[in-house]
Amino acid sequence: MNVLIIGASRGLGLEFVRQYRTAGARITATARDEAALERLREHGARALKLDVADAASVSGLAWLVDGERFDVVVINAGVLGPATSGLQAPTEADFDAVMHTNVLGPMRLLPQIAEALALGARVAILSSRMGSIALRGNADHWLYRASKAAANSVMKDAALALAGQATVISFHPGWVRTDMGGAGADIDAATSIAGMRTVLAAVKPADSGSFFNYDGQRLAW
Ligand code: NDP
Repeated sequence: MNVLIIGASRGLGLEFVRQYRTAGARITATARDEAALERLREHGARALKLDVADAASVSGLAWLVDGERFDVVVINAGVLGPATSGLQAPTEADFDAVMHTNVLGPMRLLPQIAEALALGARVAILSSRMGSIALRGNADHWLYRASKAAANSVMKDAALALAGQATVISFHPGWVRTDMGGAGADIDAATSIAGMRTVLAAVKPADSGSFFNYDGQRLAW
């Protein structure tokens, strides 16, 4: 199995690398800095430098993966942005940082990824339940929520555009103990990734365009 993990320096991305590697997959993984790239190499991955918020960096990915045919692609890179409660307007800088990473990044990456997929490939984005409009209970982190709702829209369109070629899904990874999720989160990264790998192995073309919890439960948009 040939796997591409976008944004694998730490947290959930790095755990995807660890688990797919243990399962014997060939891994290509991306990170932004040299120390993280070295760490990925130590985990047996082919490590590529990529900043998903940088147009030139993303367009360089096309020739780096030229000739590859990935069975599984995970777009994991994401940022949380400012902690707000209620209606606090974001600064333009915060808006750009969150939207460029969480939305523009996948929109720039997906056309290139589409050229490097094995037939029947599975493509997933790490979205968030916080992006669900139907499941919302409060307005905390509204910029992050807006970005993940937009990311879900992008993945739905990718599912339509890649019908017959790949199964494209959005994930909520659970509330996970990482730098982003914090020490008080519900589950550890190993549990989250084991669940999502099981879902990725099981999904069928008819599931394309769906939003899944890490444990396989379907989530409302
Ligand atoms: P972390 O903050 O621990 O890690 C974020 C990862 O994204 C790092 O590898 C980081 O790289 C990378 N990244 C951020 N910006 C960029 C960029 N511009 N280019 C390339 N890589 C980038 O987060 P988690 O591991 O917890 O989260 C992973 C994904 O899961 C995110 O998309 C997040 O929104 C989502 N998620 C997480 C939840 C949780 O509870 N943890 C809950 C719901 C969703 P670097 O080290 O270079 O900064």
